[in-house]
Amino acid sequence: MLSLQLQSHYTNLPDKFYSYQRPVAVKNPSLLIFNDSLANSVHLPKMNQEKWVSILSGNQVISDTNPISQAYAGHQFGNFTMLGDGRAVLLGEFLTKGQSIVDIQLKGSGRTPYSRGGDGRATIAAMLREYLISEAMYHLGISTTRSLAVVKTGEKVQRELEQEGGILTRIAKSHLRVGTFEYAYQYGTIEDQKALTAYAIRRHYPELEETENHALELLKKVMEVQADLIVNWMRVGFIHGVMNTDNMSIAGETIDYGPCAFMNSYDPQTVFSSIDTQGRYAFGNQPRIAQWNLSRLAIALLDQIHPDPKQAVEMAQAVINSFPKIYESKWLNMMRNKLGWEGAQDADQHLIDDLLHMMHKYSADYTNTFLAIANRENFDSSLLDSFEFQEWSIHWMYRATIEGRALDQAIEKMKGYNPVFIPRNHMVESALSKASQSNDFDQFEELLKIISNPYHNNEKFTAYKFPPVGGDLGYQTFC
Ligand code: AMP
Ligand code: MG
Ligand code: MG
Repeated sequence: MLSLQLQSHYTNLPDKFYSYQRPVAVKNPSLLIFNDSLANSVHLPKMNQEKWVSILSGNQVISDTNPISQAYAGHQFGNFTMLGDGRAVLLGEFLTKGQSIVDIQLKGSGRTPYSRGGDGRATIAAMLREYLISEAMYHLGISTTRSLAVVKTGEKVQRELEQEGGILTRIAKSHLRVGTFEYAYQYGTIEDQKALTAYAIRRHYPELEETENHALELLKKVMEVQADLIVNWMRVGFIHGVMNTDNMSIAGETIDYGPCAFMNSYDPQTVFSSIDTQGRYAFGNQPRIAQWNLSRLAIALLDQIHPDPKQAVEMAQAVINSFPKIYESKWLNMMRNKLGWEGAQDADQHLIDDLLHMMHKYSADYTNTFLAIANRENFDSSLLDSFEFQEWSIHWMYRATIEGRALDQAIEKMKGYNPVFIPRNHMVESALSKASQSNDFDQFEELLKIISNPYHNNEKFTAYKFPPVGGDLGYQTFC
């Protein structure tokens, strides 16, 4: 029997939080991609490819633990629903050499008790997409689940068109979601709710164990890590696309790479997801939605926050109301960093707003504008040619060199916050279609290499730096 030396702490929670579920075996599995550096960094056991394929396809269950699917609920586009892992199983929890526990989950591994009408499967194109974008986020320095492998199942899955089936192995700090707490609140007892809170704190925020009000402190903590996360998304132009509460991690990781995409020309209303017709999850809405999601978490914690409902609401409300201020201050600091500035000046916000306003007006590329400010790249843009931008640049330079600071120092600082390479949507799509339709991984591998070193300029890959001619008008992503 194979072993990964997995543990299973989650199953210490009451039964209603999970169902034992083995992955459903597949016909003819083969390994499409394996993340050696991730496997090495968490010190997964070494084994040959054949063994990995049998584990990561779910065909051979390892001896360590009984795999489970997790129960959760969530608000999808504002509506409460019972959900759960409809196409995923948690093989178990792995203790890394750094002594942290990570989940090893198979996604696309067959039907589960939570599948509802779904087939429990995933396409290789979608799983390779998650692999690529989650790795991009990781190398951009943004908290995220990671991808260990994608396996081709050798079975077809029926989507609009028939496609090849795939299974992703996801590594996450945990799969606890805001929706897990909503599930406990809606369907559990107060004991169930407390067990979940205790589990989350022990696993992610043990420093809270000594505090008086666990639920309230957990809420504050999740708010903090989510504010940091969203600020980072805004830094690189990432649009998650489906910020339902079941896709918001208690550990503060970016999770669920479905219809996500990167913004090219700056417009806060940018939406790519085909199902987000109202723009609920548009680029500029992400902070507001994060606050809304956190308020769902707050509601789910009310009974634990205080026995008197009125007082519980007041205490939770005070936390949720503090989000905008916390977020704005983190965002402002992030923007200062992006512009190479030190310290804080009263006029900073104003200067930043002016820049964003101009970028919007001239439909300038978000990523490349910051490179141009730092003089790292000159790209063809009416923004750069405009008198107002040139005037703004003088203000930027004054601000950057305040108190006799050298301009070079500011420019050096900018390099750490402004990626040269993001996974440009058209490049992602072209790499994915070659990989999934013709089994040609050359472009996929090249893109993976580029996004693995996003802050470092490489003249060889200039083509990867620009949005497509004509922009990505009409570009659509799917869940
Ligand atoms: P998502 O939009 O990816 O957050 O998924 C929402 C819910 O749908 C989750 O409960 C998923 O497990 C479930 N789901 C998504 N795709 C499938 C599928 N092919 N089969 C079964 N369940 C699915
Ligand atoms: Mg999801
Ligand atoms: Mg999904």
